Amino acid sequence: MKFKEFAITAYELENTSSRLAMIEILSHLFKKADSQNIQKLIYLLQGRVAPPFEGIEVGVGEKFVEKAIANATGYTISQVEALFRKTGDLGVATEQLLQKKKQMALSAEILSVDDVFDTLLKIAKTSGEGSQNKKIKHLSELLNRADSLEGRYLVRIPLANLQLGVGDPTIMEALSIALKGDDSLREDIEKAYNLSSDLGLVSKNLYEGKNQLGGIKIFNPVRPALAERETSPTAILERHKKTMADLKLDGFRLQIHKKGEKVMLFSRRLENMTDSFPDVIKIIRENVKAEEAIIDSEALAYNETTGEIYPFQYTIQRKRKHGVAEKAEELPLHVFAFDLIYLNGKDLIEEPYMKRRKLLEKIIGGEGITVMESITTSDNEELDKFFKKSIEIGAEGVVCKDPDSPYKAGMRGFNWIKLKRSYKGELADTIDVVIVGYYLGKGARAEFKFGGLLGAVYDEEDDMFKTVARIGSGFTEDMMVKLREMLEKIKAKDKPARVDSFIKPDFWVKPIYVVTVKADEITESPMHTAGWKGDAGYALRFPRMVGGIREDKKPEDVTSVDEIKRMFKLQKHTAVQTSPEA
Ligand code: ATP
Repeated sequence: MKFKEFAITAYELENTSSRLAMIEILSHLFKKADSQNIQKLIYLLQGRVAPPFEGIEVGVGEKFVEKAIANATGYTISQVEALFRKTGDLGVATEQLLQKKKQMALSAEILSVDDVFDTLLKIAKTSGEGSQNKKIKHLSELLNRADSLEGRYLVRIPLANLQLGVGDPTIMEALSIALKGDDSLREDIEKAYNLSSDLGLVSKNLYEGKNQLGGIKIFNPVRPALAERETSPTAILERHKKTMADLKLDGFRLQIHKKGEKVMLFSRRLENMTDSFPDVIKIIRENVKAEEAIIDSEALAYNETTGEIYPFQYTIQRKRKHGVAEKAEELPLHVFAFDLIYLNGKDLIEEPYMKRRKLLEKIIGGEGITVMESITTSDNEELDKFFKKSIEIGAEGVVCKDPDSPYKAGMRGFNWIKLKRSYKGELADTIDVVIVGYYLGKGARAEFKFGGLLGAVYDEEDDMFKTVARIGSGFTEDMMVKLREMLEKIKAKDKPARVDSFIKPDFWVKPIYVVTVKADEITESPMHTAGWKGDAGYALRFPRMVGGIREDKKPEDVTSVDEIKRMFKLQKHTAVQTSPEA
């Protein structure tokens, strides 16, 4: 397949304002694909050359990309820079320079998807001395053969800003439509994706006509199971006759994969965290007694002597690129294991939780790792007591698990129910929103050129982002500067296709960054599109940002519209109230 087909698709996707059109554009492309190129196409659409958990990034800095553009177009680096400053986008600058290029290279062979993908992969894998120059050379060669539209998208991949705004559900639906004409394949695709986390591979298996589209494999992360929420022990015990309640600790969710001496760690977003936590690797090697295992866990800073749980502000210090080993010494993590997904060649996903938990207890023991403290009960009072104890020792609350349930990869369901503490006059839980726009500052904020954010939640039904709050407080001055700088880079001309909004912010941005918001309550509002029922949607009352950008969450991981609807109902009969001093 010609790379031009990809470039045209990318252009169309960038310029559509409707998700249905996106599905059509994509399915049109997928119809032309075959089993040999579909995997590459899927990764390219995601702006990558491998699934995220492999940690293979094309990553070339702006300065080096400018050099490659200069090499390929015959313009000087300062001319490239000047146009970059003017357009604010190296993709557009490349496009314009390639349009003005006097002549095509003599032996210019038309670029194929294979050429581009294979060269970008080569760039990603080039390391060591002189690697930047080699990368520039490879990129220049591609640009030499590219026409202007191809150039626009070619440079965006190494710059990690392709961002076509297509979510995985949209790709899955388009695949089904391309192959079957309807969405009948969607469920199978999604199931395989939840187990393998590799949409490229699932698509390849699909095009090859395999029966098994994807399953659990050691060192491929499984998409994590997620919890629903309730506000009282009674409500939980109405759903689970008997429940296994775990502490809910606040740290890093880590999915641990072990085979012999080899151990890999994956974050909630399925990124490879193996190099970040050498202390955890050692603990697993020494204290997990199984040849092969996939364990779900929460890891946090913890005082091994006193058993004191440290607050998240301590654990977060372990998130760093430099000084990893020193910080690991200073603030070692303790692994609290809570589920076992795979053991010695056997996929445990369909086994009842009770059984998985028993197996987990058998294989774990020793310093640095424990099975998460839990109780099994069908008694309201006992559950309430355990919940109160959890708050007392510094946990966030409890996660109650249905003893008979399978591990629901990639799904939020009532098999797991979280119960968190709540304060009077405040929503029991924080809400994660994706930033879809921002406002210019007025008054005291004018100097920061930043006045607030427009935040949206995710509607799983139509794969769209729906607004729920204008967030005007909770920012430090540093944060305002940082947010403006980050958001300026991802400004969109118009409302992005997957954003549904009545409000028009000063600037639209591509839905990429996630932030956490606290609010006093959820109200009905004619201003916001989240949960729209013809006359009103839902809005957050007094929303304020807490913490920084949630790098552990993708846009589709934000709070869903369904959760907002449920939280709206739940807030009316919140039974669990603890005072802030408790
Ligand atoms: P939150 O922001 O409340 O942590 P979330 O969207 O990250 O929510 P949920 O599924 O809603 O994820 O809540 C479960 C989260 O709580 C997990 O992602 C995990 O990181 C953490 N956690 C802590 N203790 C447990 C436990 N015992 N069982 C499951 N998850 C736990």
